[in-house]
Amino acid sequence: MKITDLGISGYERVAHAHDPVSGLVALIAVHNTTLGPAVGGIRMWNYATEADALTDVLRLAEGMTLKSAVANTGLGGGKAVIIGNARTGKSPALLAAMGRFIDNFEGTYYGAEDVGTSTADIEQVRTTTKWVTGLPRSAGGSGDPSPFTARGVFLGLKAALAERFGSDEVRGRTVAVQGLGSVGMAVAQHLHAHGAKLMVADIHEAHVQTAVEKLGARSVEPERIFDVPADVFAPCALGGVLNDSTLARLKCAVVAGAANNQLHEPRHGRVLLDKGIVYAPDFVINAGGIVNISVEFHAGGYDEAAAHAKVGNIGEAVSAVLRLARERGIPSSEAAVQLAQQRIAAGKGAPKPH
Ligand code: NAD
Repeated sequence: MKITDLGISGYERVAHAHDPVSGLVALIAVHNTTLGPAVGGIRMWNYATEADALTDVLRLAEGMTLKSAVANTGLGGGKAVIIGNARTGKSPALLAAMGRFIDNFEGTYYGAEDVGTSTADIEQVRTTTKWVTGLPRSAGGSGDPSPFTARGVFLGLKAALAERFGSDEVRGRTVAVQGLGSVGMAVAQHLHAHGAKLMVADIHEAHVQTAVEKLGARSVEPERIFDVPADVFAPCALGGVLNDSTLARLKCAVVAGAANNQLHEPRHGRVLLDKGIVYAPDFVINAGGIVNISVEFHAGGYDEAAAHAKVGNIGEAVSAVLRLARERGIPSSEAAVQLAQQRIAAGKGAPKPH
């Protein structure tokens, strides 16, 4: 396997690997390990070009640094991408080669599941490296992160309601949920259980039917979810959904959802503020999954009760960011980045957890 260091400024280490035997082409980016080793998922995606893959891994790795800093996980930020088709391009040899690539980082980067990889794949990667985390429950790991992410989103959504309306009461509020996958459906369940009215959209009709039948939700065409008058818009599908075109259409008081990288560009945080919409920054509200993994990582044995207790802090984390934004008169997305940077600055020179 040929491993080439790319020397990207602002990152501790970024490397490219090509293994002609297994066909692996991959990148690992370690953004920052001030607060602990970099932990981030291994994404497998059919990128059009290697340049696209590099852009993605850099953006995602930095996002993990910020997310873990605000959530106090004691972890740093990193990410890996495998260039290829996740349905047809995987093999035990390719995943084993990915393990050897991770091993080359000597514990500064830990891989976990992500879009295009499963916990079963992580077990394959583990045949050639010990630097993986987020293992299945059957292997003593923290398992599926989605329920933890969803609970954190629910708590963060309540915190955003409190900021906007002076009460975190969900009953009677209308929430427009975009995307009813592993996280979105679970968020919708929490909301329904607490008396919210749901408007839902998904490109998979079966998911919508489930929400209509089990949660009394009203179905909305995927393209129309941005136009629905609602107290809260909860993006739980794709990134980039808060852009010039959608922000002109939104009729909500709060945006609070699970999707990563919701702002198409950083300046869209300011557009939300100017429109009077309270925005729960994505990497603060959706940290439940990495918090769950951090419990497996640090405890030397996974403890579900401890994970739930830590995810319970996400509401307060969202409140703290929204408060900071209000006090400084800045967009909440900027306040979240400032809070993360403060934590990292404070952590410089302190002993690392591992
Ligand atoms: P998922 O793939 O299970 O669900 C995504 C859902 O969105 C699917 O049901 C899909 O059909 C739907 N969807 C796709 N395009 C759509 C569109 N245009 N309109 C409406 N619905 C659409 O993924 P997930 O694990 O539930 O994650 C959802 C989001 O949350 C992603 O952005 C992910 O990166 C983010 N996230 C997830 C976790 C986690 O623990 N799973 C943690 C942090 C962030």
